[in-house]
Amino acid sequence: MSILEAVIGLVAPPECISCGVEGTAFCLACSSAEIITYGERCWSCGATSAGGRTCSSCRKDSPRYVWISTNYEGAAKKLINVYKFSGLRTAADNIAEIMNQTLHDFLTKAELAKLNYLIVPIPTATSRRRQRGFEHTKLLARVLSRKTGLATIDALGRLGQTRQLGAHRDVRLKQTEGKYYVRLPYLIKDRNILLVDDVVTTGATLRGATKTFRQAGAKRVDALIFAKRL
Ligand SMILES: [Zn+2]
Ligand SMILES: [Zn+2]
Repeated sequence: MSILEAVIGLVAPPECISCGVEGTAFCLACSSAEIITYGERCWSCGATSAGGRTCSSCRKDSPRYVWISTNYEGAAKKLINVYKFSGLRTAADNIAEIMNQTLHDFLTKAELAKLNYLIVPIPTATSRRRQRGFEHTKLLARVLSRKTGLATIDALGRLGQTRQLGAHRDVRLKQTEGKYYVRLPYLIKDRNILLVDDVVTTGATLRGATKTFRQAGAKRVDALIFAKRL
């Protein structure tokens, strides 16, 4: 937290985006009243699917399970907006709490312990990150890690974020084809990966990331997303 943020924090404690009560960006009462769960459906086509498993028609390059908290509308949309675009970092706690709830709706504590996921945030595109001054999915992953006790690692790199100095042009072109790459692949091999993102739209990013982790030798790839854009 910067000095400026600390000062702003002292002057104006967060208020619930919905009812205006002070002390939190989204109070528990509003959260339980206004967040309508996405439920046991395929993340991609919306068809009913037991346990939130990706249906057979949408399976290509998809995580096996994608658990979504809610649709991107109403209070959920407002919460994402204050978090990402107004830069209200404390909203990470509210969003991660709802995602943690979703995870526990689908998995028992024993199942979670057995899967022992590595939480991996989907990276924010460079220009947007610069605009907001922080990486919102990385912060969500960190808060989720604290809440679940699962480790988090910033293992997914997006090509084009770092300048590939010295690479020949044909090598650069080949690298850009894949769009993503895995950092620290020895930590990924044979592990179960839980990709984390705030909003899913077309799913191209999710599929690209999944493919990259499978190629890097991950055992299983699932995903936890806050909201699905309609
Ligand atoms: Zn409220
Ligand atoms: Zn489907």
